[in-house]
Amino acid sequence: MENERGEIIACEVCENQLEQVKSQVGMSEEEFELLKTPRKSLLVNFPIKLDNGDVRVISALRVQYNDALGPTKGGVRFHESVDFDEVSKLAFLMSLKTSLVGLPYGGAKGAVKINPKNFSRAELERISRAFVREMKEFIGPRKDIPAPDVNTNPQIMAWMMDEYERIFGEKSPGVITGKPVELGGSLGRNKSTAKGAFYVIEKIYQDVRDKSSIKVAIQGFGNAGSNLALMLHNAKFKVVAVSDSRAGVYNPDGLNIPELIEFKNKKMPFSDYAKEGEIITNEDLIKLEVDLLIPAALGDVISEKNADEVKAKRIVEVANGPITPKADLILESKGVEIIPDILANSGGVIVSYFEQVQNLATYYWSEEEVDNKLKDKIISAYERVLEEKASLNAKSFRTASYSLAIKRILEAERLRGNL
Ligand code: NAD
Repeated sequence: MENERGEIIACEVCENQLEQVKSQVGMSEEEFELLKTPRKSLLVNFPIKLDNGDVRVISALRVQYNDALGPTKGGVRFHESVDFDEVSKLAFLMSLKTSLVGLPYGGAKGAVKINPKNFSRAELERISRAFVREMKEFIGPRKDIPAPDVNTNPQIMAWMMDEYERIFGEKSPGVITGKPVELGGSLGRNKSTAKGAFYVIEKIYQDVRDKSSIKVAIQGFGNAGSNLALMLHNAKFKVVAVSDSRAGVYNPDGLNIPELIEFKNKKMPFSDYAKEGEIITNEDLIKLEVDLLIPAALGDVISEKNADEVKAKRIVEVANGPITPKADLILESKGVEIIPDILANSGGVIVSYFEQVQNLATYYWSEEEVDNKLKDKIISAYERVLEEKASLNAKSFRTASYSLAIKRILEAERLRGNL
């Protein structure tokens, strides 16, 4: 993408992140040049009729970061404060994630610049359909496959798929993933991110007989956080703290997670939870004395401001980018082991891939089959990261993960004759 002066708009964050691993991965200058900018992007502005007859012009964009390994894949979020740099960073992370876990996909991300709370259901449907009309040549089952992300859901995916099928006059469920099961969504997709993270955590602690000796704190109690909390609770880990956007609940003897899920299902905030637990802030939760800290809400929650006070021995990044690069260095020097987002939360995109495979084959699997295949994929990626970490003598799992992911992309670029 170029600005009005014809200069290439690079993704600054992507460049910085690549710079950090450049020497350890042994990347040449031309390889670095090739990876530091997104391949393609499309920015659109389209008019929408509101329910009251007024017209609003909505901006949206889609960034396809790298497509050497296959069609690009990544979510579409509805958020009013997204910009090109942020979407590019997320598309870059998707490229690394799909590469790391061995999927035949590149990476992409999209965004519609709205606050969905300000629109009716009918308006959101019109926006979703208009987005696909604008992107119809840019996306496709063999080009670029969107999925849900922040503030988007299976219903929105269903509208988008339906619009695409109307335009092209044929059924095409493989154009999008995260669909409702009735329209070709995969069984097991809903819990896939939590399950993937759970399989990795289970593997890390496989030698610990008494799982109740492992204290866990989880920030965020949405789709990923609450499902993972329940899986860990059922596997006898001691989940001592959880939180939502307003507050957290802490009990050093362990929380009753099924009860907390019921509480949240009644749309109650944790700040109103009055049983067997102390109410803490989200900031307190980050600093708890636990074995395992799981940020599963927002990005940048651990920064240079609080990294020094983190007491957890290990962090599993379920949220995308919860640790800033500066905090990463502080945590590394303190010896905190970090399982990076591109590995820890890859369960979602792995099962999205399975969804597309099932769509293209028109043959659908049981939930058990999906879960077993997810476990195989994510654990083999984890084991490859362990090997890479040893062979590079790398300090962090992040460097080893980036290294593997980048090498696979670069090899595909070489085989295509691009390097
Ligand atoms: P969600 O919307 O279902 O839940 C988000 C949770 O975070 C909610 O409990 C919310 O109350 C809490 N939260 C919001 N603001 C907060 C704040 N300021 N402090 C603490 N908690 C806050 O979202 P999700 O699908 O569970 O995703 C959570 C994270 O995991 C996001 O970073 C997302 O990008 C990442 N992720 C999710 C998936 C997936 O398939 N769900 C896949 C990959 C990555």
